[in-house]
Amino acid sequence: MNDNEKKLKLILGIKKRGIKDNRILNIIETIDRGIFLDGIFKARSLDDVPLPIKCGQTISQPSVVAMMTEKLKLTKRCKVLEVGTGSGYQTAILSKLSRRVYTVERHENLKKKAEKLLNYHGFKNITTILGDGSLGIEKQAPFDRIILTAAAEDIPQILLQQLKIGGIMVLPIGLPQSDQTLIQLRKTATQVIYDEIAKVRFVPLLEGIAFQKGA
Ligand code: SAH
Repeated sequence: MNDNEKKLKLILGIKKRGIKDNRILNIIETIDRGIFLDGIFKARSLDDVPLPIKCGQTISQPSVVAMMTEKLKLTKRCKVLEVGTGSGYQTAILSKLSRRVYTVERHENLKKKAEKLLNYHGFKNITTILGDGSLGIEKQAPFDRIILTAAAEDIPQILLQQLKIGGIMVLPIGLPQSDQTLIQLRKTATQVIYDEIAKVRFVPLLEGIAFQKGA
């Protein structure tokens, strides 16, 4: 299969999983996932699978990225918080659909690499931050949308507080190394509404900034 055929297959697969938003399908078609991958993994950028990145982390599967993005219901007015920059792939997609993205990563190497890559490729509305994203970003709160790309055991209450009323949060919930549930959470003035989206597997949301070997 050549790259065009692979891309067609990827997009068809994503549509089959129920993603209908053409903006998202177009963005996934346009942004080269290969630039976020290293070495031999670049050749697999069009496969609908998670792949290893540095620091023992993974780049998410395109269909899951599409699903999470769709459930966020982004508009160009949204101020978004992403917890878990990783490769920066999901960040790039969010940036195309919102006003500004604040993305937090606990591994300095990943943060620096993603920042450089996103700058180089001209993504201008992204702020990359080294930190523990489960604490949110106090001085930028509240956010219209929050997305976690690492699985929490429970909904981080600080993030819920930093979500605007009328805001949406999408996150995987569950224990590491087991099936987790992708949740869409909507905050109203009086309640929090939860909807289960799918079963997923993500790396765990960990506390604090990662210790860097050799630093
Ligand atoms: N969306 C990313 C997924 C990366 S995997 C991509 O497609 O590349 C999830 C990332 O969350 C990892 O890089 C991990 O280091 C990071 N992470 C885990 N716990 C975190 C925390 N508390 N704060 C910030 N980042 C965290």
